[in-house]
Amino acid sequence: MQRQTLQRTAIETVFAEAGRPLAPREILAGAQGRVPSLNLATVYRTLKRLIADRKIAPVTLPGETPRYELRAAADRHHHHFRCDRCDSVFDLEGCVEGLERLLPEGFRMTDHDIVLYGFCSACRA
Ligand SMILES: [Zn+2]
Ligand SMILES: [Zn+2]
Repeated sequence: MQRQTLQRTAIETVFAEAGRPLAPREILAGAQGRVPSLNLATVYRTLKRLIADRKIAPVTLPGETPRYELRAAADRHHHHFRCDRCDSVFDLEGCVEGLERLLPEGFRMTDHDIVLYGFCSACRA
């Protein structure tokens, strides 16, 4: 297999196994076990290609550098939880009903974004 394909496959596997949005340094840490020659520049280059091929999508939490998630996850309406201690981001299932109640009279909501913060189960222990 070509080196480029090898790197790409390793990174795609890391995403599939994580099942949550990943920061480039997390992707590097996960994929280096398979492709030891990998570095952060290669990770960024591969991420760019995966975005262009619509395999992954960026996840941008307020005030933070982008993380990335699989397109299949991104296409499903969901929200995120960010751990204050380890900085990991997790997918949340479901949504909140009745957000329209927060709107001032005469307003119409077209979209919403929700991020929950706290401690993940590993950090809480
Ligand atoms: Zn945590
Ligand atoms: Zn929602």
